[in-house]
Amino acid sequence: MSDSVLFRNGTVLTMDDRHTVLPNADVLVVGERIAEIGAGLTAPEGATVIDASGGILMPGMIDTHRHMWQTAMRGYGADWTLTQYFVWYYLESGKLFRPEDVYAGNLLAAIEAIDAGVTTTVDWSHGLQTPQHADAAVDALEAVPGRFVFAYGNLQQGPWEWSADAGFRDFVNRRITPGDDMLGFQLAFDVTGDPAFPEKAAFEVARELGVAVTTHAGVWGATNDDGIRLMHENGFMTPQTVYVHSATLNRDSYHRIAATGGSVSVSTESEQSAGQGYPPTWILRDHGIGVSLSMDTSVWWSGDLFSAMRATLGADRSREHLEAHGRGETVTHVHLRAEQVVDWATRGGSRALGLDGVVGSLEPGKKADVVLLRNDDSPAMFPILHPYGHVAFQAQRGDVDTVLVNGRIVKRDHKLVGVDLAAARERVGRTIDHLRGELGEKAWARGMNPDIPETKVRDNPYTYTEWDAGSAQWKH
Ligand SMILES: [Zn+2]
Repeated sequence: MSDSVLFRNGTVLTMDDRHTVLPNADVLVVGERIAEIGAGLTAPEGATVIDASGGILMPGMIDTHRHMWQTAMRGYGADWTLTQYFVWYYLESGKLFRPEDVYAGNLLAAIEAIDAGVTTTVDWSHGLQTPQHADAAVDALEAVPGRFVFAYGNLQQGPWEWSADAGFRDFVNRRITPGDDMLGFQLAFDVTGDPAFPEKAAFEVARELGVAVTTHAGVWGATNDDGIRLMHENGFMTPQTVYVHSATLNRDSYHRIAATGGSVSVSTESEQSAGQGYPPTWILRDHGIGVSLSMDTSVWWSGDLFSAMRATLGADRSREHLEAHGRGETVTHVHLRAEQVVDWATRGGSRALGLDGVVGSLEPGKKADVVLLRNDDSPAMFPILHPYGHVAFQAQRGDVDTVLVNGRIVKRDHKLVGVDLAAARERVGRTIDHLRGELGEKAWARGMNPDIPETKVRDNPYTYTEWDAGSAQWKH
């Protein structure tokens, strides 16, 4: 059997540096890599030929921050704020997750990612109470044919504690191979702003291992400018550092991020409803800071970057209009374009993760992470006039027809290939039974249904009148 795949006659969004768009072009994949892009390519002997006509070919999308272990609790926290999230996971119930529960969540999240055309996902794995939890998390990632970056964390301990643990070192030695582009590695922890800067020891471990740190920064009520300043003063802000959210920082902090070349992982749906702060793309653009996109957690939100692109365009433009209206002005031309959010969903991620030479665009020589959006049964998939706008505002995960990861077909004709969804369903079911059983029905229901604050409808001066049907007039 040949290991080549030829996509025929698609609208190709290469996402190369010039953002070249090729109408009716072919993409040839040989082995793990993209071999050629152009019109009328010759199919190698035995190649799998996929008709891409009427569709869009784009690079696989990249999510730079997902707590994949939490996908087992999909949708449970739909009405949460960040406060309820912290209470549930950090204080009350996070400890109940066994290694097999981390496995179940990761497995489902990994499958969901490739199904939605997200070919690279950072697993921001902060539920690793023991190295056995970490082994389970990585076992799940390795069971799914996606590309992942495993970001090691443990919300039950300070990062200076778990990163000094012999079991952590042993895990890294056993499971992580430097330079492996299918399974990368980061350290994931937050910096509280404590003037003693206890996180310093964990940054030193990351430096020694030669890996990046990803950190929730500028999260209202949790992390702030002091954390950024401490990182900067101690020399731990690097071009590889990924700052998640960064929604409530002052200009000084944004200057420090920009000057040291780091990037921000924006989770717009999360910031809009959990309360980390206003989604910051509008201010990041102002400081020239690189942006990647992320979905954060399926305990609230979906795991697809179409939602992220759409929400991010909406939030950025909404802010631009609001600020202008505050000045009595009208925005006649918006700054943020659909093309830019497609870049953030692809190249933004590859740049943030140091994988830009490997993935992020459709260019000969790069690893073949390819997505074909095509859906002949959908009235929303034609006409395709503005391909970037179509990706950002019209397409959705159901339009993902074919996905290649590292040259391998993992989804074809809208169906996952070589993925055992039934096994994932079974494992997630067991995890839910375990958690529900431990919590009891009352706590389970209370966790899912936070109290609604009292609302009072305001007095309306126009309602102090009464309609008189006889005279057909308002009585005073
Ligand atoms: Zn997060």
